[in-house]
Amino acid sequence: MPRNDRSTEAVLATGNAGKLREMAALLAPIGFELKAQGELGIAAAPETGVTFVENALQKARHASRSAKLPAIADDSGLVVPALGGAPGVRSARYAGDDATAADNNRKLIGSLAGLEDRTAWFYCALVFIERPDDPAPLLATGTWRGRIIDQPRGEGGFGYDPHFLVPHLGRTSAELAPEEKNALSHRGQAVAALLKQLRERPAQP
Ligand code: IMP
Repeated sequence: MPRNDRSTEAVLATGNAGKLREMAALLAPIGFELKAQGELGIAAAPETGVTFVENALQKARHASRSAKLPAIADDSGLVVPALGGAPGVRSARYAGDDATAADNNRKLIGSLAGLEDRTAWFYCALVFIERPDDPAPLLATGTWRGRIIDQPRGEGGFGYDPHFLVPHLGRTSAELAPEEKNALSHRGQAVAALLKQLRERPAQP
């Protein structure tokens, strides 16, 4: 059922202003007014899950409990089968807790040296909960397949983008315009899927 007849506040479990802007614009048409957890003085939740889904749920619960509002959270990263799934949930901290994207990329390329299989994918888990003990979270995921190349290309995006080749385009994700990346990416797919679920969910009591 469409929810554009009323506005509902929700907290977005991120301190990232760019993510808030992007998600706020996407969710506005269905009546959600988003607040970043940082804006409400809520600290980031520890991420201790083995999977992106667990981490997204942990972040959402923490934000919902602290803000006393419905919450949306995402967790994403790069999965490389030849590395046993690494960097995986440790994508942001692959080369260490204070690692920069350059450190992480150096470690990624070093770990793949001599390995033939360069398959990789980005994965995003996005969850929505009404309240901290919501037993039925909405869960949307997105997967974006590519290949890791040794030489970085492109100035756009962030993180592993300069090394992530999108095979059918022959360009890395750092060489795509933001709209092009959003139309294809793991995050873009997850957001589209969550929006569909939010539009279709029954009215809440
Ligand atoms: P987050 O949890 O979505 O902020 O992302 C976790 C980490 O995964 C980032 O710090 C990046 O290292 C990596 N990552 C996630 N999405 C992307 C992407 O779209 N491009 C490049 N790296 C990404």
